[in-house]
Amino acid sequence: MSKNVAQIAVIKPLHNLFDYEIPEKTGYLKPGSRVRIEFGKKQLVGFVIKITKKNNYSNYKLKKIIEVIDEEPLIDKETLNLFMWISSYYHAPLGQVIGIGTPAQFRQGKNLIKKKIDRPYTITDNLSKKFTLSREQNDAVRVIKKSLDTYKCFLLDGITGSGKTEVYRNIQCHIHKKGLQTLIIVPEKNLIPELMDYFDSRNLRVLEYHSSLTPKKKFMNWSLIQNCEVDIIIGTRSSVFLKIPKLGLIIADEEHDQSYKNNSEAKYNARDIAIYRAKNKNIPIILGSATPSSESILNISKKKYIHIKMRSRINNKSLPDLKVVNMSNKKNTILSEEVISSINKRIKNKEQTLIFLNRRGYSPVITCNECSWIPKCEECNLNMTFHKSKKILICHHCGRMKKFYDKCFACNSSEISYIGEGTEKIEEVIRSKFSKSNIIRIDSDSTRKKGQAEKIFDDIKKNKYDILIGTQMLSKGHNFPNITLVVVMNIDQSLFSPRLKAIEQLAQQLVQVSGRSGRGLKKGEVILQTSFPENEDLRCLIENGYEKWVKDLLLLRGNLGLPPHRNWGVIQAKARKYLDAENFLENIKKIIKKNREIEIFGPMPSSMKKKANLFNLNLIIQAKSKAKLNYAIKDCIPSIKDIPYSNKIKWTIDIDPIDYD
Ligand SMILES: [Zn+2]
Ligand SMILES: [Zn+2]
Repeated sequence: MSKNVAQIAVIKPLHNLFDYEIPEKTGYLKPGSRVRIEFGKKQLVGFVIKITKKNNYSNYKLKKIIEVIDEEPLIDKETLNLFMWISSYYHAPLGQVIGIGTPAQFRQGKNLIKKKIDRPYTITDNLSKKFTLSREQNDAVRVIKKSLDTYKCFLLDGITGSGKTEVYRNIQCHIHKKGLQTLIIVPEKNLIPELMDYFDSRNLRVLEYHSSLTPKKKFMNWSLIQNCEVDIIIGTRSSVFLKIPKLGLIIADEEHDQSYKNNSEAKYNARDIAIYRAKNKNIPIILGSATPSSESILNISKKKYIHIKMRSRINNKSLPDLKVVNMSNKKNTILSEEVISSINKRIKNKEQTLIFLNRRGYSPVITCNECSWIPKCEECNLNMTFHKSKKILICHHCGRMKKFYDKCFACNSSEISYIGEGTEKIEEVIRSKFSKSNIIRIDSDSTRKKGQAEKIFDDIKKNKYDILIGTQMLSKGHNFPNITLVVVMNIDQSLFSPRLKAIEQLAQQLVQVSGRSGRGLKKGEVILQTSFPENEDLRCLIENGYEKWVKDLLLLRGNLGLPPHRNWGVIQAKARKYLDAENFLENIKKIIKKNREIEIFGPMPSSMKKKANLFNLNLIIQAKSKAKLNYAIKDCIPSIKDIPYSNKIKWTIDIDPIDYD
């Protein structure tokens, strides 16, 4: 006898679906519905993915679904397809993707909240408020307006202060008149309040969606969005999963930002999902940035995106009044005399200084103090990192290793040092040198609680602090008119990091953070402290500006056959024994068949320190197309469980990696 069987995803790191019998008394069950099931010995909420009829179940008995929670599925077909695509593209368990893409109360089985928003729904011409666009803004709007009913990806490449937000609003207004909803995603929640205020004051129904909302509020907003009770949704990366029935436009602001990438569980990139979604729904998407990512610039040259430039505030030729302080002859100095006296000048004038610390923990690159030699891989032309425990240099692209005997390969000197060493002391030194000043440190720790960031930003504007010490977070979007000096430190490790994205992120941050100086009436100054003032990237960036620099980078990467011209997937294995992880990846290497379009590098040790007593090893899969990469990896996943001792390995897959190491 045949039975109706539901294939169910559970929120666990498991790649397969589970079959459950649909009780006869249940009516028609649809994919996307939540059900209560017994899983192991526990009851939990599962998600119906497929319904099938199965014969020959005489051999073993299937468990029955205990309860159907949704008669009508709350995950509609479009959203379910999106989850399935994400699961397939990033090779992440479907249940885990659903887990990331839905609010907690929904996953616990709670029912949708039926509520209306106080502000009535009106289709008003919210543009009628007096506002004139600049010529460039007008041109941008004109180009985008031509394609409001179809998929087009626009790269709005506009320098800081060129007025991208007004362009967004103008386009949003046209979408609104069609009765459609707009989704705006930003890389960090601190960027939400300003945008909320901006759109809220225009008589629109605006809602936020991000991880700092209480579970209750999050579920409430999630419900209101599904019920079409809002016009604009502004959220962080998880909002890209939202079911938005009348979605007509997506905007991804600061598209270059690495925070769009999720680095735990499903390693998705929200900007890329947004593009997929727009394409699939046949609606326009706008990517905004003052420093577009290399992959977006590459897509422009492939004619996949439309490039809209806004350059009219300042000509984007070079960074504003940037002074480079050479630290190469001051090996044990953390703060140069120039920096100290410049800060003192600001304190005297009651102006503010922003000290930007590039705090990313990169792997150690060594250099010779005598001749400035830096080890490079002969094969790939990339810098090699030093692994202390084994005394070897490793190329983290091709896996080539070289023994290092504490002596410079070029001049035989034993005066070797680590690039960027000792920089963790910077904050200490600043605090002791300027002990009488008000100093505040701003990072994700000091702004975690709701309202905390707003309070700090407010205090900065009220001039309560003399010196702000900040990381990436401060380089974005905020406008503090009394900052007249920006000091950039601790960049040397990024200059030589083998991580492919490191130099690009540094270039973007330098441009962004320089833009923080002199936003008010007073003129701003930027000082950059580095031991490598002659570095080619640095010089090109300072002399020619970001646009030229990123073009050069793409050219170089093209010649070397590296991303973004190639597609990467990294399979990472962690194990208590080095050999277990190595064997595991060697086995995967054998399963993935090499051919002309797939190259495999490794296994090689990750340069991340051993965490929780586990060894980290990486295998890089490189392909000429995303499809080829996808097939190669998809093919090998079912065989992984047959690899000997695979149960001792924790493994993950990272597609289009950013922070892989
Ligand atoms: Zn190499
Ligand atoms: Zn040397």
